[in-house]
Amino acid sequence: MEGANKRLIREKAYELGFSFMGVSAARELTDEARKLEQWLNQGMHGQMHYMGNHFDKRIDPRKLVDGAKTVVTLLYNYHSTQTQEDPTAPKISQYAYGKDYHTIIKQKLYSLLEYIQEEIGAVSGRCFVDSAPVLERDWAKHSGVGWIGKNTLLITKGEGSYFFLAELIIDLELEDDGPIKDYCGRCTRCIDACPTEAIHPEGYWVDGSKCISYFTIELKDELPQEMQGKFDNWMFGCDVCQQVCPWNRFAKQHQEPAFDPHPDLLTMTNKDWEEITEEVFRKVFKKSAVKRTKYAGLTRNIAFLKK
Ligand code: SF4
Ligand code: SF4
Repeated sequence: MEGANKRLIREKAYELGFSFMGVSAARELTDEARKLEQWLNQGMHGQMHYMGNHFDKRIDPRKLVDGAKTVVTLLYNYHSTQTQEDPTAPKISQYAYGKDYHTIIKQKLYSLLEYIQEEIGAVSGRCFVDSAPVLERDWAKHSGVGWIGKNTLLITKGEGSYFFLAELIIDLELEDDGPIKDYCGRCTRCIDACPTEAIHPEGYWVDGSKCISYFTIELKDELPQEMQGKFDNWMFGCDVCQQVCPWNRFAKQHQEPAFDPHPDLLTMTNKDWEEITEEVFRKVFKKSAVKRTKYAGLTRNIAFLKK
């Protein structure tokens, strides 16, 4: 049976809009540390140099947060059943449809921490969302909210993989939820469908430096010629390895109004995107994560698709 403290936290988390919560004791993740080291040594992070920073803190949250005892993993749904109307328009990953999730989810995490402090007592901790010093997917796996699929994304059995991951690392002890099994089985759909062959043939390993998300969002230089024609018309991010995943047939529409796209994003035609001005960019992507590429980055990506 779930302890009273954990039940209180879970109920509040669901009230705040999180879909899943899982708990794992804070400790060093030895196996994951080795895997991360290998991945970095092989240059799979491309120009994402921040991935190599704070290595010690990344593998052990107790070095990141004083007195850390527990990692609480929380999942927030961003799945949208709305799609861009023009099938020939350059595509944008669903997670970036609405307002930037960092601020929205951080706020919810702060509310949850405040609630814990009010209801349980002097608990201290820190809130993280999509934060480099935390091995988010691994903690999610250890706390049983899902498993890490062959596409290296966290998949829940109940609602698929369209989730933002967030963590509360606190000095309060809670009972572990423990991992669940891997339900990928013999499926290889994500591996077969990846347009740039970024997923290792055996799965569970993505060459970040070959992934369309990396090229369209992270890469600051020119896009490499050898990738010409391989982007499957994605101008920001890529959802292919999620779209083909059979577990995403259980994905549900999110309930977060802030994640709804600007209406123009859905109705803009291929031609509109080709001719996008900085003014339209600012209007459609106001407060959106797409602003990360800036106007110049997005137009670079669109031009690359049209060559
Ligand atoms: S996001 Fe796209 S490019 Fe990256 S691994 Fe998945 S399918 Fe491949
Ligand atoms: S597509 Fe298949 S192999 Fe890939 S993550 Fe989903 S279930 Fe696993």
